Amino acid sequence: MLPPPMTVRVRIAPSPTGDPHVGTAYIGLLNWCFARRHGGQFILRIEDTDQTRCTEASAQAIYESLRWLGLTYDEGPDVGGDRGPYVQSERVKLGIYKKYADQLVAQGDAYYCFCTARDLDAMKARQRAANEPIMYDRRHRGLDLGEAQKRIDACEPYVVRMKTPLAGDFVYKDRLRKQPVVKAWKDIDDQVLLKSDGWPTYHLAAVVDDHLMGITHVIRAEEWLNSLPKHIWLNERLGFTPPEYVHVGLLRNADKSKISKRKNPTSLLWYRRQGFLPEAMLNFLATLGHSFPDGRELFSHQELAQVFDLDRINVAGPVFDLAKLRHLQGQWFRKMDPARQKAEVHRAIDERFDQLLPLLKERMACGGDFIAAAQTFYAAKVDPHLDELVPKGWTAAQARKVLEICQTAFKNHLAGEGNAWDVASLEGLVRGLIGEQSTLPFEHTEEQKAFAALWAPKGVFMALRVAATGSKESPPLFDTLAALGPMAVIERTGAAIHKLGVVKA
Ligand code: GLU
Repeated sequence: MLPPPMTVRVRIAPSPTGDPHVGTAYIGLLNWCFARRHGGQFILRIEDTDQTRCTEASAQAIYESLRWLGLTYDEGPDVGGDRGPYVQSERVKLGIYKKYADQLVAQGDAYYCFCTARDLDAMKARQRAANEPIMYDRRHRGLDLGEAQKRIDACEPYVVRMKTPLAGDFVYKDRLRKQPVVKAWKDIDDQVLLKSDGWPTYHLAAVVDDHLMGITHVIRAEEWLNSLPKHIWLNERLGFTPPEYVHVGLLRNADKSKISKRKNPTSLLWYRRQGFLPEAMLNFLATLGHSFPDGRELFSHQELAQVFDLDRINVAGPVFDLAKLRHLQGQWFRKMDPARQKAEVHRAIDERFDQLLPLLKERMACGGDFIAAAQTFYAAKVDPHLDELVPKGWTAAQARKVLEICQTAFKNHLAGEGNAWDVASLEGLVRGLIGEQSTLPFEHTEEQKAFAALWAPKGVFMALRVAATGSKESPPLFDTLAALGPMAVIERTGAAIHKLGVVKA
C-alpha cells in the first residue's frame, strides 16, 4: 500500500539582526513556491537565540517586508498557528530545548563541558602555533557524569556539547547536487548545543523546531551545508525523522563573493524605498533560481508556483545583478495602469520630501522651485567638473586619494551592523578621518607631511561636496550626504575617483 501523501511543510527561519535581507526574500520565494505548488504550508519562524544581536524592530521589519512582497505565510509569529510559538526566544522560556539537551546527555550523545573562555583561547593559541585545525579538543568528552553533576551543583558554568562520532564519514545526497556531501566525522566539532546561559545554539533549536513544527523540507542557502552533518546526526539521536535538506546557491556579487552590503544594497527596505515594485523584485529573484519552462522573462510568483519544480533550482552561484533588476523593474512599471504609476511617482517623491524640504527651502521662493532645487537628490548620477573636484592647492592625485579613503570609510560604516546613515554619524565619521589622517607619525617623509596637511575640513568637505552633488554649492554637507543615502554617496564618490584617475599628471 502506498504511504499517505505527505503534506509539504516548509519554513524560512531568519534571524532578526539588522535590516531584512534580500537573501531572506530569495529563500522565502523558493519555499513559498514549493509550498504553493504542492498545496502545503509555508511557515515563518524567527530565530533569535543570539540575544546580543537580535531586535524586535528587525523582526517587525521582516514581517512587513514579506507582506510587501506578497510572500504570505500560513503560520508565523504575527499570524499564529497550532505549532507555535514561532519565535525561538519564546520557546526557550517554555523549556523546549533544554529538555532535548538533557535527553541527549542522558543517552550519552552529549556531554557537559566546563571550559572557560580563557581555556578556549589558550586552546586556539596552541593549535595555531602547532598549525593544527582550530577546533574544540574534546577534552571534557570523557568526564564522568557524576563528577560533572558535582561541578554543576557547585554552580560552575558549563555548556552542553554534542558527542559526534570520531570515525567514519558523513554522507548525504542533496537532490540538487551531483556529488554527495562527504565529510569525515573526525573533522567535525563537538558543537555546543546549550550555552552557559541555558540558551540553545542555532543547531539544536533549528533541529528541534523543524521536528516539532512538522517541517518536511528544509530549503536553505548552501552556507548551511557545513552544518548538515550536525543536523542529521541530531535528528537521528533524538529519534526524529529528518526533513529533506536541500541547499540552494547563495546570492553573489558580480565578483562571485557572497552578496554583501559593500557591493550591493542588501536591505529589502532600501529597494522598497527606491520604488522597486514587489512584482519586479520577486520576478528578478525568481530568475536567479528557477527559469520559466517556456523561457518567458516576465512572470509573477503565483505563475511560477504553478510550474515550480524543486529539482530545477539553479545552484550555481546566482549573481545579483542590479542592472537586470532595473531592466525587469522597467518592464513591470511601464505595463502598470496609469493610476498606479502616478501613485508610484508620488510615493517616490514623498519618500524623501520631508527630509529634503527643510534643507532646500532656503533656495526656494515657491513650491515649483522644489523640482530644480532637489535635482541632485533625484538624479541617477552627477557629472562634477574636474577643476571643482580638486580643491585649491591640491593635485588631482591627492583629491583622488582623499576621496578613496573617504569612500572606504563610508563602505565600512555601511557594512558595520547597526550603523545609522544620519547627519551625526556621518559628521563623526568624516571628522574622525580628518583627525586620524592629519596626525603624522613621529618619523615621516615630506610626502606624508604634504598629504596630512590636506586633511582639514575646508578642502575635504569641498571634495566630498562636489563629488556627491556635482556642484560647489549645496545645503550643509552632512545633511546632504544623509539625504542622498549611502548608495548614491558611495556610487558618486566612486565616479569622482574614477574621473580623477584618468587625469594626466
Ligand atoms: N537562522 C538561520 C539564518 O538566519 C536559518 C538557517 C536555516 O534555514 O536553517 O539563516
